Amino acid sequence: MSAQKTAVVTGAAGFLGSHLTDRLLAEGYRVIGMDNLVTGNVRNIEHLAGNPDFDFIKHDVTKFIYLPGRVDLIFHFASPASPIDYLQIPIQTLKVSSLGTHNALGLAKEKGATFLIASTSECYGDPLEHPQKETYWGNVNPIGPRGCYDEAKRFAEAMTMAYHRAHGLDTKIVRIFNTYGPRMRLEDGRVVPAFIGQALQGQPLTVFGDGSQTRSFCYVSDLIDGIYRLSQSNYHEPVNIGNPREMTVLQFAQEILKHTGTELPIIHKELPTDDPKVRQPDISLARTLLGWEPKVAFEEGISRTVAYFRDFLAIKS
Ligand code: UDP
Repeated sequence: MSAQKTAVVTGAAGFLGSHLTDRLLAEGYRVIGMDNLVTGNVRNIEHLAGNPDFDFIKHDVTKFIYLPGRVDLIFHFASPASPIDYLQIPIQTLKVSSLGTHNALGLAKEKGATFLIASTSECYGDPLEHPQKETYWGNVNPIGPRGCYDEAKRFAEAMTMAYHRAHGLDTKIVRIFNTYGPRMRLEDGRVVPAFIGQALQGQPLTVFGDGSQTRSFCYVSDLIDGIYRLSQSNYHEPVNIGNPREMTVLQFAQEILKHTGTELPIIHKELPTDDPKVRQPDISLARTLLGWEPKVAFEEGISRTVAYFRDFLAIKS
């Protein structure tokens, strides 16, 4: 049998899935990418066309997953991930992290593969503990507009732990905090592409509420490095991966104006329901367990992301 390991990445045509795929290929894995392309885009993986170590299968993982041959590692990254998606496709959002997680775990069990689920800081909801440690159980509104994402991811964590406990499956859970970088969708409504897109197109920046809510932004290569390290570890409970550098949304808007060299107005729009007031990861566990911490400075990450969106808009126009 070949020494080359095979990884399956669901959501491989998405923002994080495509970067994870690149990393796995660089580590010598064969990668089978799956995506139903509802929010993913083949543009994110077109550079892999012709790569003998990469195969793409267009498949909706809420349906039974059949794959012949060896699988060593499964990364379940398929899911809509933007508050606008939760409003537009709430049922797909619920299904991919519930039925999709069940199918991906079933495949892992069948193949004897390691399983890693992309969970989220949304498990903490609108947190009453700050910064958030993995031991915090969260403050989630199950029936609000974000409930479809938050509760499905919480279910996914519960299902993953059940497969670990009941079937002895080797599982990992990463709780991903706000991440940004090239290959985000320009129109996905999240604050990073929204503000950069607005600034590059000469439109006012739309700050929701008074902009005092906080987020902590992690550059994508740092996040992927933490996830890769977790996949190689022996730890089974959730691990936060994110950058603790916290700022208000208003400060973030000002940073984007500075980095794009624009002087545009900031306008305020209504704060969406259940928008968390604060969010900052406590990454002590990742530091000690994985020897990991973020390395890419905010200024550097933002300038790479702005460069990506400049190119993207030039191609579009
Ligand atoms: N936000 C904003 N303007 C926008 C988009 C988002 O002020 O055009 C705010 C949003 O209300 C939230 C923060 O930016 O407080 C981050 O939103 P995002 O949709 O990126 O993800 P979230 O962290 O809420 O899941």
